[in-house]
Amino acid sequence: VPAGMEIKIKMKIVETIAEVRAQVKEWRAQGLSVGLVPTMGYLHEGHKSLIDRAVAENDKVVVSVFVNPMQFGPTEDLASYPRDLEHDAKLCEEHGVDLIFHPTPEEMYGDQFYSYVDMDVLTKELCGLSRPVHFRGVCTVVTKLFNIVTPDRAYFGQKDAQQLAVIKRMVKDLNMPLTITGCPIIREADGLAKSSRNTYLSIEERAAALVLRRSIFLGKEMVEKGERDCKKILAAMTAEIEKEPLAKIDYVKIVDLDTMQQVEKIDRGILAAIAVYIGKTRLIDNFIA
Ligand code: AMP
Repeated sequence: VPAGMEIKIKMKIVETIAEVRAQVKEWRAQGLSVGLVPTMGYLHEGHKSLIDRAVAENDKVVVSVFVNPMQFGPTEDLASYPRDLEHDAKLCEEHGVDLIFHPTPEEMYGDQFYSYVDMDVLTKELCGLSRPVHFRGVCTVVTKLFNIVTPDRAYFGQKDAQQLAVIKRMVKDLNMPLTITGCPIIREADGLAKSSRNTYLSIEERAAALVLRRSIFLGKEMVEKGERDCKKILAAMTAEIEKEPLAKIDYVKIVDLDTMQQVEKIDRGILAAIAVYIGKTRLIDNFIA
């Protein structure tokens, strides 16, 4: 047996729902707990932090790797979204993952599909405005993954803060029997939030992308120093981004952490969130306070 093979034998990669169900059934019969980390692959340290947390808190961990067509709009980057299953499998193996679920779109949606999980209010703000079908796709695929894997716990990154709020709300509203854990944003050494989409950036754009981090850190500092007027904070954050010629603002907003509705004063838990195009690449960042 060549070196490395043993680890490979420990971690399975499956493409079918039936195989996932069979494996989870076996684990359940042994009384083992199951954690799920849903991803679109091209895994980086952000994903890794979710995986490490899941491995620490569960007997068995499933990572799903699925670039979900339903959450992409018609003009978005579905076709060009980066993929590298071999790299993902290696990272998962090394971090103690037990099973990768890597379905095809056909396996997930067949040739007829008519059922969706949709959400009001929280999805009508921030990314929901520029990406009108996005959260319906996210809620539907995450519900399917929960029904397929039946995890005790699932892990999502604060990097996608609105997604985390939406998933928490969906689980609460629809009485889904699992715990959702949010994990902190993991950043590059220079502060850019890690994202699979960072690979789209040219060298020049990569430098320009630091404007997101500057805007976020500036807003955070203002709040920490006691500023409570959202208008002032947003004006400073916006001005910072506008200094960068390659940046085009999609939104800069402060919203209630639970409802995602805009607030004027920081008198409760808030999310300050930005979405900025750097060239053609849309990047997001945020802080909570
Ligand atoms: P994705 O593959 O981009 O759909 O992300 C899968 C999961 O990883 C989501 O819950 C993301 O919020 C999370 N994630 C992605 N990037 C980061 C990051 N830089 N820090 C923390 N979590 C992240």
